[in-house]
Amino acid sequence: MTKRPSSDGTHGRFDAFRLARGRGSLDGIVDAATLPRVADTVLEGPAPIAWRIEGTQDAFGRPALTVALDGDIALECQRCLQAQTWPVHTRTVLVLARDDADLVRLDADSDDEVVLAAAPLDPAQLVEDELVLALPYAPRHADGECAPPPDEAPNERDH
Ligand SMILES: [Zn+2]
Repeated sequence: MTKRPSSDGTHGRFDAFRLARGRGSLDGIVDAATLPRVADTVLEGPAPIAWRIEGTQDAFGRPALTVALDGDIALECQRCLQAQTWPVHTRTVLVLARDDADLVRLDADSDDEVVLAAAPLDPAQLVEDELVLALPYAPRHADGECAPPPDEAPNERDH
């Protein structure tokens, strides 16, 4: 992938600890079809996903972020190969680690996800990470909702 310009002005990297302390928030809309690790899964774009990152703390008062995603993505059903709308509505708590040792300790210690925030974080990266986790590995319609295979004529055997 080409490198994106680092100064697009709106959503650059941010200091996660400062956001957590100040209970700040960032939000925006991303087209899932443009995210490198998700693009192959998305059947058709644009697939706008609204995201919001909020500074907070976990149940133990440790600095954390919540990452919330909302939107619909068209995926290809692995059974009938037709489009399937997959709703994405997630809200994830990420506990902030100050360094690698902190990361290991928190990871062993916490039920929440842990993210290394020693350096400023890229919101687009966090959003993409969560979206990868939110999408199914093999999307499929619910039973009985698949389109009939186009190359198989209905097999009628009435008397
Ligand atoms: Zn299907």
